[in-house]
Amino acid sequence: MEPGAAPSVWDNGAVVAPHLGGEVPPPYPDVPDDDSPKEACGVFGVYATGQAVALLTFDGLYALQHRGQESAGMAVSDGETVTVVKDMGLVTNVFDERTLAPLQGHLAIGHTRYSTTGSSTWHNAQPVYRAVGEAGFALGHNGNLTNTPALAAEAGMLPGVVTSDSDLVGELVSREFPKEPRNDGRDLEVTLAKVLPRLEGAFSFVLMDTAHLIGVRDPNGFRPLCLGKLDSGWVLASESPALDIIGAHFVREIEPGEVIVIDAAGCRSLHPFPPGRVDPRLCIFEFVYLARPDSQLYGREVHGARRRMGELLAEQAPVAADMVMGVPESGVPAAEGYARASGIPYGEGLVKNRYIGRTFITPNQDARAGGVRRKLNPLRENIAGKRLIVVDDSIVRGTTQRALVRMLREAGATEVHVRIPSPPYKWPCYFGIDTGTRSELLAANMTLGEIQQYLGVDSLAFLSLENLVRAIGVPGAGFCSGCLTGEYPVPVPVELRKSVLERPPARV
Ligand code: SF4
Repeated sequence: MEPGAAPSVWDNGAVVAPHLGGEVPPPYPDVPDDDSPKEACGVFGVYATGQAVALLTFDGLYALQHRGQESAGMAVSDGETVTVVKDMGLVTNVFDERTLAPLQGHLAIGHTRYSTTGSSTWHNAQPVYRAVGEAGFALGHNGNLTNTPALAAEAGMLPGVVTSDSDLVGELVSREFPKEPRNDGRDLEVTLAKVLPRLEGAFSFVLMDTAHLIGVRDPNGFRPLCLGKLDSGWVLASESPALDIIGAHFVREIEPGEVIVIDAAGCRSLHPFPPGRVDPRLCIFEFVYLARPDSQLYGREVHGARRRMGELLAEQAPVAADMVMGVPESGVPAAEGYARASGIPYGEGLVKNRYIGRTFITPNQDARAGGVRRKLNPLRENIAGKRLIVVDDSIVRGTTQRALVRMLREAGATEVHVRIPSPPYKWPCYFGIDTGTRSELLAANMTLGEIQQYLGVDSLAFLSLENLVRAIGVPGAGFCSGCLTGEYPVPVPVELRKSVLERPPARV
């Protein structure tokens, strides 16, 4: 392709084309929501000369699928051209041999998306691409900016010109891009050093031009991002299992406020944010639910932290019972920990349909409740006549737990005691996790007794924040726990709070 020409952007078939620019139905509208907080996105990047980087990116995105199931995409550079392929759907819906084969190059980024800002359209699928003069760059974003309207106004953009915060960052970077290419080819990193300090909120980015791969983590490090090493190059990923799947070894987590630049000269680290802004506050819910159990965060494997949450929950909220069971899958490690600490046998009480992913859409509450039956089925012989302790990761709206309790009772449980290895979810998240509005959050609107009654359980207890931090076990580590306490680590503009309050509830 000629330098400066628009990239190839394939819509991967006719499915998407009729919907371009409009709302599109999610890929699996009949699959229920799991009533847990929803991830914002997964990002991946690889620089590996002589390797099939598109295949590596496919594998990396596949390992990050849990972070977003709405759309997937990748950008690949062969040194002269950046080619972007993106579409609505799961990674395996978007990519196959046919779409991957032409994507030759030494450098790629990839993205899986769940929309927390911007609508669910092909246009908002990522990577975002911008052509700038003879150059161009692609960008993938995990997180939410909190100053999008202010940035857009500052840049003189009319409302509606940018369709998401990621799109806005693409626009800001393209506006600051040098008109004449620099001799050292470092146009993108020099531009980022100007733009990044103006951004507020949560952002883990992967970016690329034809010759450079760049990773960025915001000064609070809300969302994870790590660095890996292949024999022939370097890898960036939201979570470490995306390194494992391609045979890269984990080097380290990118520091909050750090920019990593990878090119033919190797890997170097930049720190463009004022030191006063750097304040590590990793999202505590990455440990509770969002991250994979085999991920490394703050130097700890998430699975072990979840098991310790269960152990501390058993100490904090004991109850006499015959069996401890976890709600598959994220409740299982904490249930094992609860069983170990309490001495009550662990058993399986539910079978999960293996072919149903973590999904993100529910037309209404009835569908959610029906969805529990599609996803989970009780092991009646294991449950009948028993007093159960049921461990689930968190309660957002409570609809699935309510249906689940009913299912367990119908299967013969004589008592159902629910234990949650995290504190009650009472406040919205503004940093890239979809928790719904305050009016939708069960714990924001009911007392413990009322929730217990609503769920139909014999007892209910949540792990305290203090014990949650103890369970993670990283002395001195900073966390964001804004959705649990209402105290956010960075100011949330009034307009943003208002927009969440005014957002129509997800349920109808
Ligand atoms: S508000 Fe909650 S979900 Fe959002 S980043 Fe903070 S801890 Fe995570």
